[in-house]
Amino acid sequence: MTSTTKTPPTKLDVPLLDLKGQYAALKSEIMPVVERVLDGQYMINGPEVGEFERQAAGYCDTKFAVGCSSGTDALILAMMALEIKPGDEVITSPFTFFATVGSIHRHGAKPAFVDIDPGTLNFDTEQLEEAVNEKTRAIAPVHLFGQMADMDTVLDVAEKHDLKIIEDSAQSIGSKQNGAPSGSLGDVGCFSFFPSKNLGGAGDGGLCTTQDEEVYERLKMLRMHGGKQRYYHDEVGGNFRLDTLQAAYLSVKLKHLDNWHEGRRRNAAFYDEHLAEVEEVTTPIIAEGNESIYNQYTLRVQQRDELQAFLGEAGVGSAIYYPLCMHEQKCFAYLGHSTGDFPIAEQAAAEVLSIPIYPELKEEQLAHVVETVKSFYA
Ligand SMILES: *Cc1c(COP(=O)(O)O)cnc(C)c1O
Repeated sequence: MTSTTKTPPTKLDVPLLDLKGQYAALKSEIMPVVERVLDGQYMINGPEVGEFERQAAGYCDTKFAVGCSSGTDALILAMMALEIKPGDEVITSPFTFFATVGSIHRHGAKPAFVDIDPGTLNFDTEQLEEAVNEKTRAIAPVHLFGQMADMDTVLDVAEKHDLKIIEDSAQSIGSKQNGAPSGSLGDVGCFSFFPSKNLGGAGDGGLCTTQDEEVYERLKMLRMHGGKQRYYHDEVGGNFRLDTLQAAYLSVKLKHLDNWHEGRRRNAAFYDEHLAEVEEVTTPIIAEGNESIYNQYTLRVQQRDELQAFLGEAGVGSAIYYPLCMHEQKCFAYLGHSTGDFPIAEQAAAEVLSIPIYPELKEEQLAHVVETVKSFYA
């Protein structure tokens, strides 16, 4: 069966993500703030950075937050602050965005994997303890697509083996597990403001959260070349700062974030209900106690590539997050893994398809997506 044997419903444009609508609604709120920052010309470490950090820490229910240059840099900064050393192992998911594992490698540590849970697609914490060895120094749970990984078990295993926890919260700002927000339970939470994240900046940006004052001081120092006092350096850090302009922009958007999450949940509920009857499609499974922010709404489907082409013909955008697991990436061949090592993750990579979920979607667009999926499997 190929897409050419079927006729999709009358075309309607439903892009995977449309940020223009959100910006248009916010433009009158954003422009005066941008103008104020530009007028002040305090472009680095301006007061808006500290202001945004306080707001973000409040939002994430953490004592401290440190703005930084990207989600990737947040991960690297966290490992520097927690003194993860060359050769130390960091356990994470093989089914994640590249940056999680790329950061561990770039920091000089060794990525280690456990397979994923077929329901949530987050790493399977039941397998965590077996992966711990004498070199393991940290666990980096990834809260994928907006839903948190099982933190109870992560916290237990970390405590038992004296490991640090670095939460990759890049896709999960505002997501909760039994009431606790993403990024509030580990040693450091790492967030991304890449424009396609639920809280998207006007370019790159990121954030580290922590409950520990000492870690907070280290994060601040390391993001500015490792010096507490200017021109005096106890350690080598980097330039990992968040621009004043970004911080000001993000402050405006943070006020609307819960509303946008609500819209995404409403859209998810619509898909959940209307796609339930399609046997070949599995809608996202949210674990008990979890509240997803649906950074992605990711289906598991049969004939994935054909469905994607068919959706495209009907005007519906979709994406494969992610087509190749981390243990199968060429750049990580040195780790010695091969296909078959993490079969559940590999199967997910062959079956996932993310469809439009952003809050500004109109009901007719949602209905069109559902109708197109249904007519593909009819
Ligand atoms: C987006 C993302 C990152 C990296 O964030 P950037 O801001 O793009 O550097 C890291 N991990 C995950 C899971 C992500 O989705």
